[in-house]
Amino acid sequence: MAEHPDTPDFAPLDSLLHEERVFRPLPETLAAALVSPARLRQAREQAEADPLAFWEEAAEELDWFGRWDQVLDDASPPFYRWFPGGRCNIVYNALDRHIQTAAKNRLALIWEGEPGDCRTLTYYELFRHVNRFANALKSLGVRKGDRVVLYMPSLPETVIAMLAVAKIGAVHSLVFAGYSAKALKDRIDDARAVCVITVDGFYRNGRVLQLKQVLDDALLLGGHAPETVVVCHRAHVDVEMQDGRDYWYEELVRAERPQCPCEVMDSNDMLFVLYTSGATGKPKGIVHTHGGYMVGVSRTFRWVFDINPTDIYWCTADLGWITGHSYAVYGPLMAGATTVLYEGHPLYPQADRLWSTIARYGVTILYTVPTLIRMLMRFGKELPRKHDLSTLRLLGSVGEPLNPEAWVWLHKHIGRQQCPLLDTWWQTETGMIMVSPLPASLLKPGSVTRPLPGIVADVVDAAGAPVPPDKGGLLVIKTPWPAMLAGIYNDPDRYVEEYWSVIPGAYLTGDVARKDEDGYLWMQGRADDVLVIAGHRIGAAELESGLVSHKAVAEAAVVGVPDAIRGEVAKAFVILAEGYEPASALIKELKAHLKRELGPVAVLGAMEFPASLPKTRSGKIVRRILKARERGEEVGDVTGVEE
Ligand code: ATP
Ligand code: MG
Repeated sequence: MAEHPDTPDFAPLDSLLHEERVFRPLPETLAAALVSPARLRQAREQAEADPLAFWEEAAEELDWFGRWDQVLDDASPPFYRWFPGGRCNIVYNALDRHIQTAAKNRLALIWEGEPGDCRTLTYYELFRHVNRFANALKSLGVRKGDRVVLYMPSLPETVIAMLAVAKIGAVHSLVFAGYSAKALKDRIDDARAVCVITVDGFYRNGRVLQLKQVLDDALLLGGHAPETVVVCHRAHVDVEMQDGRDYWYEELVRAERPQCPCEVMDSNDMLFVLYTSGATGKPKGIVHTHGGYMVGVSRTFRWVFDINPTDIYWCTADLGWITGHSYAVYGPLMAGATTVLYEGHPLYPQADRLWSTIARYGVTILYTVPTLIRMLMRFGKELPRKHDLSTLRLLGSVGEPLNPEAWVWLHKHIGRQQCPLLDTWWQTETGMIMVSPLPASLLKPGSVTRPLPGIVADVVDAAGAPVPPDKGGLLVIKTPWPAMLAGIYNDPDRYVEEYWSVIPGAYLTGDVARKDEDGYLWMQGRADDVLVIAGHRIGAAELESGLVSHKAVAEAAVVGVPDAIRGEVAKAFVILAEGYEPASALIKELKAHLKRELGPVAVLGAMEFPASLPKTRSGKIVRRILKARERGEEVGDVTGVEE
């Protein structure tokens, strides 16, 4: 074992959270699962014995224009190249190939606007829309390799634009429609976009957000100027159109032919640039490419979500996040599945919008985020009961640790204790789900279970040595995987430094986790958010889960604040559940509860009850802001954070 450098930051963590509950899959789930426990075991063995053959088999499930020379070129790590020499286009797999099969007339998209309007598109209809717009983009002069920024909410046109851009070999970069003019400008500049696609306005929380106006403001800030701007009608509000630069989407596509071949791409040609949410610092422009990304996303989508032709699949993530890219658009479309998109606020006009939407379309698979689940828990179990949720057969979660309490609530009140609940761990950088159960797995609430076959993840200390079971450490990925990032746009040095320099030869995720004796992983939060309490190193997520398990607590963020005597103490920021008021008796009760749940080490210092917690636009708690405030330090980059 390598010598342990004395950097307290990377010493193993203690674990306080011990969850004993176990949920076994029902016999009928086991019988129907696409990947049975035996098949999963075999896949693990195969992937371990010959990982390249394992991924090559996955690649063979897709259509290529020309076969790869090699599965993996690892000659210059960490710049790995998957399927070099392979000729392909992800859009061919998401669209064109379905037109020759029974999937042609199947629904590709069910879209619901916030006011309640609904549009559906079959694969054939989507195909024709994409081709028309692809031709229009070519007419505007957009070429292979050009970057196109999409500043759009979740609309059918957003999916059409993503696929049209990729089809002609250009590179899309979605910017979440809630971002400010400044954040948008930064991203247009960084990507040096030749074209920006947006909408006049859209509906969010009962209001119209004038998106074209924000884009105009962004472009007035100076910097890189795109040559063309395309505007889709959505809210039919007045916008200013600049002659020679701005074009209406509907007018552009009217004259275009509904046929357009896919540009033949190399596996390692860029597909998109997507900026991370900025929870831990300045957002990074993560680059993904056609070949490896389509293989990783297609395989994981089919296996994890166990998809079959009768499913109605709904991923609630905005298209502007990686989850929207991989598992609302590319994954489901490559599988020929029906995917639901929703434009607006999840609690509009009432807190049961999610449940009524599931009932309206007969959603069978729901993939969502912990922040929304915790929000909905606050409204109680009566709301979902008013709706027919019996079509649901699978539940998934991603984005933050799903606290055991939230896990059990979702499983019981939404999943009827029958639907497997898949807590999936992955990142913008990984492109695809990395650690997750499959429907036939044995589940432990709060655990993301085990790495998927073909993924070699481990928990290590600063020297890269595995930490003993039940101790926490750095979560690393030890071998390359197909959908891995190709790099950070325009910043190869940052790519090497951030991800590959801390633990030699391994990809650093930036998260901390512990592995239990069954090899199950339990996420403990971000490495930056580890606290030191009385000499014990504790992940923020464990303390937060301990608090959230009290019925008075809807949401909690715990950070370490400096203390003259003890070095550091834990301070909690708590959002109370409906019907609870901050009071000294409650503070006492919560502190006692935490010790009961996690043991005597879990000592809380101060507790505060703010009106809200600072979050990224994707809804994640940004602890570094709370920490900086407590320490009177500069907060750093906040372009990704809600005002
Ligand atoms: P930034 O990198 O700019 O700080 P971000 O990390 O929030 O932003 P994403 O790539 O969207 O951007 O999120 C990935 C992170 O989300 C993971 O590193 C992890 O911290 C968290 N995460 C995702 N899924 C899970 C999960 N199932 N359990 C616990 N944490 C998760
Ligand atoms: Mg990150």
